[in-house]
Amino acid sequence: MPARRAHIAGYITAVAVCFALGMLAGWNRLAGRVDNQAYDLLSKPVASEGEAIVVAIDEPTLRAFGERPQIRNIVSMTLEKISAARPTAVALDVILGGYSDQAQDARLEAALKTTPNLILGCLVDSDGKWEDPAPRFRSAAAAIGHVHYEADQSDGVTRQLALETVYANERRWAMALETFRVSRNAEILESPDDLEVAHTRIPAARQDSTRPMFIRYAQSIPVISAAKLDQHLGELEGKTVFLGITALSMANDRLKIPTGATIPGVTVHAHAYETLRRGAFLTDASSTVILSICLALAAATGLLFAFFSGWTAYISVLPLLALPLYLPGLFLEQDTVFPIVAPTAVAWLCFAGSATYQHFIVRGTLRRTESDKARYQEAIHWAAHEMRTPLTAIQGSSELMSRYKLPEEKRGELSAMINSESKRLSRIIQTFLDVERLAEGQMELKKEVFPASAVVDTCMARVAPIAERKNIALTLDTPVDGTLTGDRELMEYALYNLLTNAVKYSPPETHVRVLSATKGHELSLSVQDEGIGMDAKELKSIFKKFYRTKRAELSGEAGTGIGLSIVQQIVTHHGGRIGVTSTPGKGSCFTMVLTVQNAEALSR
Ligand code: ADP
Repeated sequence: MPARRAHIAGYITAVAVCFALGMLAGWNRLAGRVDNQAYDLLSKPVASEGEAIVVAIDEPTLRAFGERPQIRNIVSMTLEKISAARPTAVALDVILGGYSDQAQDARLEAALKTTPNLILGCLVDSDGKWEDPAPRFRSAAAAIGHVHYEADQSDGVTRQLALETVYANERRWAMALETFRVSRNAEILESPDDLEVAHTRIPAARQDSTRPMFIRYAQSIPVISAAKLDQHLGELEGKTVFLGITALSMANDRLKIPTGATIPGVTVHAHAYETLRRGAFLTDASSTVILSICLALAAATGLLFAFFSGWTAYISVLPLLALPLYLPGLFLEQDTVFPIVAPTAVAWLCFAGSATYQHFIVRGTLRRTESDKARYQEAIHWAAHEMRTPLTAIQGSSELMSRYKLPEEKRGELSAMINSESKRLSRIIQTFLDVERLAEGQMELKKEVFPASAVVDTCMARVAPIAERKNIALTLDTPVDGTLTGDRELMEYALYNLLTNAVKYSPPETHVRVLSATKGHELSLSVQDEGIGMDAKELKSIFKKFYRTKRAELSGEAGTGIGLSIVQQIVTHHGGRIGVTSTPGKGSCFTMVLTVQNAEALSR
């Protein structure tokens, strides 16, 4: 259970880290550029029959005014014509700071004064001060408005207009906004979150003393060359006229707009004015909305990989991976600008994180299941191998008893054999279960106290008949001292195994010795034979499950290679250790070192 909880916590952490990385990826300059490009692609120009008309002082106009055209003269003459055509308002995108020729300025002043609802332009000059129109011109205007556009620094595209600009503690509204206000003969009502002009609410919240507003570019704005104004005068009535210089030889103000086109600044004023007039504004999605959607994407991706696996998970996550690519378009339909990078990065990173995490977890679980299976199969092998001998004895004896009429004495012998072999069988089954549990670390060892000599005696008695069959002498060279604490059954199993191996892997007519030595609280029990032996390389592997030496295989003795690994487990679980020395062809000596309590200690 704690492992499962740790797995869930690890998984949630992995998804959370991917979410955080995705958000970070969405908030940098490069991501900003990608978001901008997505916006440019998606924000289609709006079709509109508008109010704004641009009157352009273009190259033909300049040519019409001769070799050295005087801009103030051109403006004066053009304004005179425009005023006669009775437009609603006229915005003049020319900075009229300072004075020039007296006669020219007088004519200009007169032209300005006859222009209805005139808006003049102002700029921040290189000294950081407002460059307003000269007072004699200023007095003729209904308002002055800021004419500069701040393009996006990352790619130079003009997407937004600062409706408000503060410099040297003085605030100016943008020319387009002032023109809109004047054309509506209204006031600008302001709050930190929006502006209101003639019942049009403009959602332009104040940010760093500007109020950015997305310009919704129209498909086209009518442009009339000042040189051909006479033929179009009728079109100006009731319209809002933006008069500015578009000739590149005079003013190099061209702005790049989202469609990829570059247009003169005066036309951008007209687009901004149209945006205000239509009253349908775009706003940036709030951070809360972006964060919530990104969180939802991360959670959904994480949950899909938590509840599904393999192809089901991969296929069901596809819509989530595609969704962030569609979100900006869906939001734009609701007049909201939504980023593309942050949600896409969150969805894809969370997908990669969840998939990788689950992949490794599933692989880990699979590996564990496989090793459990292998261990179980080994145990079954061992049990089958160990049970064969008593089963054969029981089967043989019972068959003899049922087939033949045997003398009473022989029958008694056979039934005693059946009895003892079935007991052995049940011991083996018990040992099998114990060893299984020992390997899983689930078993609490019994804590019996018994003399070490009893274990040695029992095992030697059990092995004696096998040794006898091969004419092998089995001797106990030194008396065994001390008392062991632990599981007597398992301890007998361990020593019995060493003894049967010694007999199994020794030729007839040899000698198997049991040696014992006590040193403090340590009892060494050795089983020494004169058998086939093992070389140094083989010695390294004999405690591994299933390992058998070549020599053992060739000896023709049956075996599974499991016994010694169990012996080692039993000894280590009792706090002891096991070692072996051997010489090929000469013999081996297995030594178990166990903790004992000696007789004096016990009697004290
Ligand atoms: P098994 O005897 O069933 O093969 P064990 O785990 O008891 O399995 O022993 C593993 C291997 O160690 C044996 O197959 C044999 O190669 C080697 N071995 C164990 N005891 C001896 C011994 N006394 N002399 C020589 N080789 C031995």
